[in-house]
Amino acid sequence: MENCIFCSIIEGKIPAEKLYEDDKVLAFNDVNSQAPEHFLVIPKEHIATPNDANDEALLGRLSMVASSIAKERGFSEKGYRLVMNCNSDGCQSVFHIHLHCLGGRQLSWPPG
Ligand code: 5GP
Ligand code: ZN
Repeated sequence: MENCIFCSIIEGKIPAEKLYEDDKVLAFNDVNSQAPEHFLVIPKEHIATPNDANDEALLGRLSMVASSIAKERGFSEKGYRLVMNCNSDGCQSVFHIHLHCLGGRQLSWPPG
């Protein structure tokens, strides 16, 4: 998708600190980290918002990849948060779905 920053990262046009990649998904560090560990897992297919997602296996894969990276990086036992923002009330700013994984510190709840 043209003018999509995450499609540009997938295509290698914009650099990113990649943590994992396979044929369906890509994971990379968030450029504006909100925690000691903050990465995004995205599908390679352009899907604008969670409202547009209809592939259960693909959505499940995002979550499985996030937890396996958290295990690999050694913060899974202490814990982390997985979140996918949707549209304006959810504060979605990039319209290519992405699962945030935040960890490495005590997070607060509820979120703002
Ligand atoms: P959202 O607010 O849509 O849920 O989250 C978008 C996330 O993408 C933000 O946390 C933001 O820091 C991150 N982000 C935006 N542009 C880039 C980029 O060019 N590279 C990386 N690595 N992260 C980005
Ligand atoms: Zn895209």
